[in-house]
Amino acid sequence: MDAKRDPYSTWISETMLQQTRVDTVLGHYARWMQSFPTVFLLAAAPEQIVLSHWQGLGYYARARNLHQAAQIIVQEHGGKFPPEHKRLTALPGIGPYTAGAILSLAFHQPEPALDGNLIRVFSRLQNWEGLPQESAHWKSLYWNLATRFAEQSPPNLINEALMEFGALVCTPKKPDCAHCPIGDHCQALRLDLVHLRPPLRKTRAPLDVRGNILILHYQDKLLVERGTTGLLAKQWRLPMGSTAEDLIRALELNLSDIRKCGLVKHSITHHRMQLQVVFAKTQSDVLPPDPDENFQRQWIPLDRWQETLVNSLAAKAIRKWS
Ligand code: SF4
Repeated sequence: MDAKRDPYSTWISETMLQQTRVDTVLGHYARWMQSFPTVFLLAAAPEQIVLSHWQGLGYYARARNLHQAAQIIVQEHGGKFPPEHKRLTALPGIGPYTAGAILSLAFHQPEPALDGNLIRVFSRLQNWEGLPQESAHWKSLYWNLATRFAEQSPPNLINEALMEFGALVCTPKKPDCAHCPIGDHCQALRLDLVHLRPPLRKTRAPLDVRGNILILHYQDKLLVERGTTGLLAKQWRLPMGSTAEDLIRALELNLSDIRKCGLVKHSITHHRMQLQVVFAKTQSDVLPPDPDENFQRQWIPLDRWQETLVNSLAAKAIRKWS
């Protein structure tokens, strides 16, 4: 990761690292900073270009929030990050952790930045059997301890050291307790409970989704759609439906050469999808009627589909057909 700690690069890297592994983020971060080296260039970029730089990181709402927040920073703050917790957390997508990271790492303010590394370290050091997301009680215990650390000087190095300690020594699976510099203070080590700390998070059971995804051609064009709700909301995507018949009927078009091209598997949040790829042609570029006012459809050039369809589900379906 970039050693330079300015507010913009800190914001981008910390946002990418939420729910995504470091090795996945590295290449994306380098490409992003090459295309959008400043908040001004990010704010001025078309949304579709911004989303295309996010492809492979998942949770596209993060990219949309970065884009919207960049526009607000440029329009309302003259391109400068407001160095205050309240004004930072008022921006789209910036929560207490990201605000704390920007304020402590880039502005050197004594602000806590409680990430997954710190939660793991604190749970073991204190032998805490709860997690901050479980209740207000646990939340305040963790954040208060993070604040006590951040109030030591210098806060940027304290927070960075804690994150690195969690990533390199007090690791999730095999913490190096034998060489731990703070092992004498670790309650979980003293009680031989390191393997139970932090406690397991209660996860939502995966939801199996079966359905169909349509690749519809008109000459050298491809039909795409965008809605405001459901999976892949606000993103251009290939049409999807529970059965091929329903999907085709809903378009109200005369289709030919209909054929099945195979199955694709894809996961979005806790949805585990298995979709049949269906190919079809139409002889008219009339757009099907939109089911409601928040829904859009358009024909895009087939040879430039990657400029519009930035989700990896579309890429899997198109690979299956081509
Ligand atoms: S002793 Fe082990 S579990 Fe405790 S803080 Fe050190 S590395 Fe983590």
